[in-house]
Amino acid sequence: MLIDLHSHSNASDGQLTPEELVVRAVNRQVDMLAITDHDSVDGLAQARQVIIEQELKLTLINGIEITTNWLNHEIHVVGLNIAPDNEALLTLIETQKDKRESRAVEMGRRLAKAKIPGVYEGAKALAGEGAITRAHFARYLVEIGAAPTFPKVFDKYLSRGNTGYVPHNWVSMEEAINVIHLAGGQAVLAHPNHYHLSNKWMRRLFTEFKQADGDAMEVAMGQQSPQMRLQLAMWSKEYDLLASQGSDFHFVGRWRDLGKALHLPDIAKPVWFDWPSYLLLSEKKEVIL
Ligand code: AMP
Ligand code: MN
Ligand code: MN
Ligand code: MN
Repeated sequence: MLIDLHSHSNASDGQLTPEELVVRAVNRQVDMLAITDHDSVDGLAQARQVIIEQELKLTLINGIEITTNWLNHEIHVVGLNIAPDNEALLTLIETQKDKRESRAVEMGRRLAKAKIPGVYEGAKALAGEGAITRAHFARYLVEIGAAPTFPKVFDKYLSRGNTGYVPHNWVSMEEAINVIHLAGGQAVLAHPNHYHLSNKWMRRLFTEFKQADGDAMEVAMGQQSPQMRLQLAMWSKEYDLLASQGSDFHFVGRWRDLGKALHLPDIAKPVWFDWPSYLLLSEKKEVIL
């Protein structure tokens, strides 16, 4: 059974529509997919409708990826099996959306001052109705030739300390975990090795995530060394966190794809270990046959 619990649609900074995303998942033999847009649940309804209408063999997990503040780090917390209409969750999303919007305006202002005008408008047009992210700014800046590639545009303009970087006070990590629980979901620490933390700080993050009642952490990601995957699996055991896996798919590219190279080391306990069997499609199929 192929499981991918981290992906983006154009409800945030993914490039595929929710429809294209679920169709691609099926074509890639994925059995279970979580759509986890940045601070948004707007893609879920369309994805679910397409699955029903086209009778796709895919279990959709309602997800979200919340950008949070922990000390002075931006930590991403994935919520799995959340109720998208939960009031506490919708309130949090509304607040984060306002923060994203005002940050985007300020980013545009700073870039304009640095003689690159119109970037807010360009990024906003790419984001459409969706949650506006730095990835939209990056796409627009690459389009106008301000830098040749995504990583370069982040290095030059968008990462901490650069012209277009605006620090922000997102919801706290503890609050995000709490709201995910209120919405009936499980809170997963996303890509722990992407925060440029030393091992000492990583351990502190695991400790505090667990203390804040976090449920799981991502262990398997598409692009990752076997050593890193095993290390994360060992940490998940040590800190008594369940293990999740996901591609963090944003667009069709050379390296990353839905369901690609995803499996947990044997020592890890999967975040889905106690999910109801109707969610585990292939198991259901086996029962019926
Ligand atoms: P935001 O949540 O608005 O700060 O945007 C963060 C998003 O930008 C991430 O989810 C990635 O999709 C993208 N991103 C962040 N850093 C980089 C980077 N160094 N290179 C490419 N994409 C990045
Ligand atoms: Mn993203
Ligand atoms: Mn993330
Ligand atoms: Mn993500």
